[in-house]
Amino acid sequence: MSGPAGIGHIVHPTAPTSHPALPVEPLLEVRGLSVSYGRIRAVEGVDLAVEPGRIVSLVGSNGAGKSTTLMAISGILPLAAGTVRFAGEDITRLAPEARVGRGIAHVPERRRVFAGMSVRENLVLGGYSRGDRAEIERDIDTLTALFPILGKRLGQAAGTLSGGEQQMLAIARGLMSRPSLLIMDEPTMGLAPQVIDLILDTVLEIRARGTTVLLVEQNAVEAMRLSDHVYVMRLGRIVHQDSGSNIDPDRVKAFYMGAEA
Ligand code: ATP
Repeated sequence: MSGPAGIGHIVHPTAPTSHPALPVEPLLEVRGLSVSYGRIRAVEGVDLAVEPGRIVSLVGSNGAGKSTTLMAISGILPLAAGTVRFAGEDITRLAPEARVGRGIAHVPERRRVFAGMSVRENLVLGGYSRGDRAEIERDIDTLTALFPILGKRLGQAAGTLSGGEQQMLAIARGLMSRPSLLIMDEPTMGLAPQVIDLILDTVLEIRARGTTVLLVEQNAVEAMRLSDHVYVMRLGRIVHQDSGSNIDPDRVKAFYMGAEA
């Protein structure tokens, strides 16, 4: 089954609700998340919530624990403590593949595409959890409309694409599972400025198509500009959070440095 708000389903996620006073049930809710690498505690007591139809960013300096948090949410890393709830269900103990089935897709850091396989084969693999071949072909058409350059390269080996194209493929492959939550880890890393703009525009487009986004982004100012809510991490903890419209880049910088910790 596809997720409730997969690609190609146009909804209006940021439209105001008729009862703004009613709290929106979060799509993702993380409570007291702690993760260790052996004896090193990399993430400690993280609480965060992602409401449906939003772009939520995690920012912070290198080693703050952002990637670790994302990997624990998608089930790649085990939790030392805490809970992860998704669409009202406790998924803390679900395997990563089961979380994909529930509607969570993770686009990892460093755009890991299958270099020896064609662009089309990479996309088909992204849809493996669904099985319906005709639907997969339709989604490839939808995604090549979102990323026209991939449409021109469907038969080409993924390893021959430029860095920006590989990133687009990694994102498109994530969308092939029709997630309701797309987790993106540093999608602009190492890309040229124009390509960075293109990728960030795509993040907005993905939200406009009804998919919720949890983003880790090294370009904190850019991330704050496009996000509905921002969490700042330092030394494994959330040290600050605010709405995208209220967040103050200078204060965020101070939190990065520990000046406000
Ligand atoms: P970056 O932007 O550098 O990826 P980050 O905020 O994503 O930073 P993490 O990669 O989550 O941070 O790392 C958090 C902490 O965990 C760091 O101190 C890091 O050195 C440590 N760490 C990360 N991966 C491992 C690992 N495989 N084994 C041991 N320690 C690790």
